[in-house]
Amino acid sequence: MTRVLSKVQANHCPAELIERRDVSANLAIFRFRVAERPSFTAGQYATIGIAVDGDVIERPYSIVSSPHEPFLEFFIELVPGGDFTPKLWELKLGSTILVRRRIVGQFTLDPSVTHHLMLATVTGVAPFVSILRTQQIAHEREATSSHQFVVIHGASHSADFGTYRSELEALSRAGWLTYIPTVSRPWAEPSWKGETGRIEDIMRKHADRLGFDHSNSVAYACGHPQMVANVKAILARARFPQEQIRDEKYFSLDTID
Ligand SMILES: Cc1cc2nc3c(=O)[nH]c(=O)nc-3n(C[C@H](O)[C@H](O)[C@H](O)COP(=O)(O)OP(=O)(O)OC[C@H]3O[C@@H](n4cnc5c(N)ncnc54)[C@H](O)[C@@H]3O)c2cc1C
Repeated sequence: MTRVLSKVQANHCPAELIERRDVSANLAIFRFRVAERPSFTAGQYATIGIAVDGDVIERPYSIVSSPHEPFLEFFIELVPGGDFTPKLWELKLGSTILVRRRIVGQFTLDPSVTHHLMLATVTGVAPFVSILRTQQIAHEREATSSHQFVVIHGASHSADFGTYRSELEALSRAGWLTYIPTVSRPWAEPSWKGETGRIEDIMRKHADRLGFDHSNSVAYACGHPQMVANVKAILARARFPQEQIRDEKYFSLDTID
């Protein structure tokens, strides 16, 4: 146990839960203040841990906040019966967790193209919000940029978009971002006036309409593994070469009982 804890001290940094916003019964936004502010690139993920019986349970989470913000923000789904998320849901404000000092991941903006087609199921919007907040800060600080972004954000119900819907709608008013939330169970929500269907159903239509294609774009798919597999096949048929399709799968379909 002593060995476990000393390894933990070397590799991790304590972080205090400073804010939690519930989006629904099983979705929440968490903000942590990390004792030593970590350095990372927008789009990367942090591994966070909770100490349980002298051991540490850890899971990776895409960071929602921009590297310029003084906290780490995450958008997390509660997995009933999971080893980690039920413990996260029990934390009170002021509780301490552990964050691995090394923040990693390759799911970052590819600056070699000007057009970025971003596809996210529910919490999969996290790395895109980080990238877009960072773009917004760059716009405020200096120059104009030629980068154009489309985010297609899928969920069963519109409530699951959380506060990110209004945030991305506000950012889209500046003209460099198009945000398209889409609801896959519109029959359960007759008042929903927005796009309907899964990301796979509507992606080509919007990409073609907005001029995002294999000649100018990189596509990024994040979240549910089935969505990732489906859009990769659609993008391949739209002549996107493999190196212009990036993905971040949050879990594996093989592991679901
Ligand atoms: C790079 C990366 C970034 C990630 N970022 C996020 C993020 O920003 N937000 C987020 O909520 N999750 C994210 N995840 C998933 C996260 O790491 C955990 O796997 C998840 O929170 C479940 O943890 P758990 O210990 O509660 O469940 P576990 O005990 O690990 O899993 C229990 C079972 O549920 C399955 N499962 C795991 N997640 C889901 C899910 N969402 N829906 C259905 N079944 C699931 C597992 O495959 C397993 O069979 C990310 C994963 C990776 C690899």
